[in-house]
Amino acid sequence: MFGEKAIILAHLKKLRESDLRKRWRLIAAAAISTLGMAAAIAVVPGQGQNLPPKETILTSLSSPKIAVLVDDERPYIRQDKVRSGESLGSALRRLGVLSTLAHQANRTDIRQALAGKLQPGTVLTVATSAEGGLHSASLTDSTTDRLFILEEHDGKLELRSENLNLDTRVQMQGGIVQSSLFAAMDNAGLPDAIAEKLAEIFGDDINFHSDLIKGDRFSVIYEVAYHQGRAIRTGRILAAEFINRGQKHTAYLHTHPDGREEYYNREGRSHAQGFLRSPLEFSRVSSGFSLRQHPVFGNWREHKGVDYAAPHGTAVKATSDGTVEFIGQRNGYGNFVILRHGDKYTTAYGHLSGYAGGLKTGDRVRQGQVIAYVGSTGWSTGPHLHYEFRIDGIHQNPLTVALPNNNPLSGIHLQRFRLEVAALERQLAHLESSRNAFLD
Ligand SMILES: [Zn+2]
Repeated sequence: MFGEKAIILAHLKKLRESDLRKRWRLIAAAAISTLGMAAAIAVVPGQGQNLPPKETILTSLSSPKIAVLVDDERPYIRQDKVRSGESLGSALRRLGVLSTLAHQANRTDIRQALAGKLQPGTVLTVATSAEGGLHSASLTDSTTDRLFILEEHDGKLELRSENLNLDTRVQMQGGIVQSSLFAAMDNAGLPDAIAEKLAEIFGDDINFHSDLIKGDRFSVIYEVAYHQGRAIRTGRILAAEFINRGQKHTAYLHTHPDGREEYYNREGRSHAQGFLRSPLEFSRVSSGFSLRQHPVFGNWREHKGVDYAAPHGTAVKATSDGTVEFIGQRNGYGNFVILRHGDKYTTAYGHLSGYAGGLKTGDRVRQGQVIAYVGSTGWSTGPHLHYEFRIDGIHQNPLTVALPNNNPLSGIHLQRFRLEVAALERQLAHLESSRNAFLD
């Protein structure tokens, strides 16, 4: 049963540029005018701390918001970011709206009403008929929390706006990696933001650029902000499970007494401390390797590090908190950065195309902070990142080195944490077993 829902979700999944030829059909009546990034399926209202038992989830699966329409009336939904230099009209045309209609979006009144709200990166959601007639196009202004909706009335485009009245709901979804994490996310109807957050949370346990294999699976419980029944954006991940090469990794959001939020695994080990396994930003673009094509090449012992093939300009992140020990040119390394992390550890990043703005020797950096960009400077035949990991000055294989883990929860803190996450843990287990039932 859950499997069917997953398929419906996949239909509702936001559209990416590469999927434009493959037009997706909308099934949820409630989402006709402005579909957000995720569908209202497996919705559990309320906050993560007090998740209701699984029966509630099954009830809300048949929520009245989901209604199947007559086939011919289903609009096509596409969602994509506005590109730099693109007018609203050309963005609409790119997303399948008839030229004659799309053209009207460049009218002065519409341009003025949207001044400053339409920028490169703004997410545009478009619902059209099969012929390119516009049902609606929408975007949200997150600074003022207003929703702007373009609709066609008798061949004329009209713009209206409403205040976003967001309520946060908790959703859960899972998937299985067949070709890539992003393809699995697409199949599960999950937005890219969730894949990126998962990679961030589990970045200390899993190298998302080299460790993923077919058959890896994940379950995630996350917040989605809704406006009048339509998903507008994703919020925090509250809990997640990632089974990589048969090994289960868990993460639960824990709020410290001072309000700080941090992810811990089931055993009370923090995901935020220690080192990230991969220094590369994980995104749909930077992860565009097939799983058969291993992104890491070269013998690390011979040249003291590992190389990550990645598109020119991919963001390079500090793998742990530290200070900049060296930044500049160094012969074969080209543009080079060395970070120091406490007394024992240093990491190094080579062949960079450039550095993050203003970064200089002595600066403090945080784990995950972007420090530079992938390039091909120095002795390099193509864009890639050379990454080194040293303990007491001795090079280690970054892919396999045992990494330090600091300040785990213990004693009474661990007990409290386990009580706190018990409900989430049951939800994840339920999600996993529903999926297995579907697969069998
Ligand atoms: Zn190298």
